[in-house]
Amino acid sequence: MDFSLTSEQLMFQKMFRDFATKEVAKVAEQADKQEEIPAKLLKRAAGQGFMGALAPEPYGGAGLDVTSFLMLLEALAAESLALALVVHVHNSLALRTILNHGTAAAKEALIPEMAAGERIGAFAMTEAGAGSDPTQMRTRAVREGGEYVLNGAKAWVSNGGIAGVFVVFAVTVGAGLDSSPDAAQSTKPNPPLRMSAFAIPADAPGLVVGGREKTLGLRGASITRLYLQECRVPAENLLGAEGAGYPIALEALDFGRVGISAAAVGLARRAVELAVKYSGERVQFGKPIGAKQAIQVYLADCATEVAAAEGLVRHAAWLAEQGKPFTQEAAMAKLFAGRMAATVTNKIVQVHGGAGYVTEYPIERFYRDARALEFVEGASQIQQIVIAGKLFEGSSVKVRP
Ligand SMILES: Cc1cc2nc3c(=O)[nH]c(=O)nc-3n(C[C@H](O)[C@H](O)[C@H](O)COP(=O)(O)OP(=O)(O)OC[C@H]3O[C@@H](n4cnc5c(N)ncnc54)[C@H](O)[C@@H]3O)c2cc1C
Repeated sequence: MDFSLTSEQLMFQKMFRDFATKEVAKVAEQADKQEEIPAKLLKRAAGQGFMGALAPEPYGGAGLDVTSFLMLLEALAAESLALALVVHVHNSLALRTILNHGTAAAKEALIPEMAAGERIGAFAMTEAGAGSDPTQMRTRAVREGGEYVLNGAKAWVSNGGIAGVFVVFAVTVGAGLDSSPDAAQSTKPNPPLRMSAFAIPADAPGLVVGGREKTLGLRGASITRLYLQECRVPAENLLGAEGAGYPIALEALDFGRVGISAAAVGLARRAVELAVKYSGERVQFGKPIGAKQAIQVYLADCATEVAAAEGLVRHAAWLAEQGKPFTQEAAMAKLFAGRMAATVTNKIVQVHGGAGYVTEYPIERFYRDARALEFVEGASQIQQIVIAGKLFEGSSVKVRP
């Protein structure tokens, strides 16, 4: 494995970090307080090509390699995890899924506008009753001639309020599945899981975006509910084959887990930098607190955890770039990096003392934001099940959630 960066990747890294320090840092606090990312910043990010990061050049995208894209998320998350989440969900989950599985017509209609940032993407899989367990999905899609008609409600849709297109997962009603309106109330698992994926433009009839979730952190991100009420979508907006939605979701989530892990690394590394700065300036007992060995040891442990998470991210990215399987490595990176970001920011609040608990310093925002990373793209316990599943592959032990 060669993890060294090429000169082009180093150039990108510098460009991403410059953008984050010059453009993102100054509005990150405001985005958190006002519960939205300023439209001007989104426009500037789009102007830099960030919304087309994973779109190939013929579609007007930047066609970044995986490592460069992850460095973009790392750089943005170092100032605003909310902005990193917007760029991540748009690229890793929405754009990439449409690119990999959309019909030629859907790609032509959607990708150029997505790459230009004129149409932000969202990914709607979770429901109130179907979080870790997708077999409880109640959203239904029924084919009627050249269209599908969707009914259901989605929860936790990142980018919901700013999206121009939603990748939506629904159970395609077919043999053995209850298509009655009562099915939405049933708690029976769907036998077998016949999930399909659809690209649905925000102006599709019957698509209604709900209110913003009031969250502990990530307040700048627009996380909403989504309602599909007799929502009609042309059959050409089906992604992949009918019934192939589950593998499509897993493929997106594998990649998404690496993206979230990279964001965790960027956020936690910045938190350590903030602590080094603060502990060099804060004087108690006649010396900067950073001169105390206890603080040094604390920060040394934090920096080591960040570096370990980065290693897992790079390994998963390397496998992805080689076209090798990386499901287990993505789950490992996500498990470790999600927890690491939560524990590191917790420790760094401690290094700041009371100053870590007031909004005057950014660390309280980092601490609130980081906590989400153990849920987004699957909770830590689900990552452990994925990892154990790979460990026991071929054995008589069946790993089940
Ligand atoms: C900030 C944020 C943004 C999000 N954005 C999106 C998005 O854009 N699109 C989307 O579709 N979803 C999104 N989600 C939803 C996210 O994917 C879910 O929160 C996650 O999958 C967990 O589901 P849940 O919250 O329903 O928890 P539950 O599934 O109810 O789990 C609750 C707890 O039980 C544990 N648990 C569940 N099953 C098992 C088991 N078998 N063994 C052991 N422990 C178990 C879980 O690990 C967790 O700790 C987002 C979530 C957050 C917090």
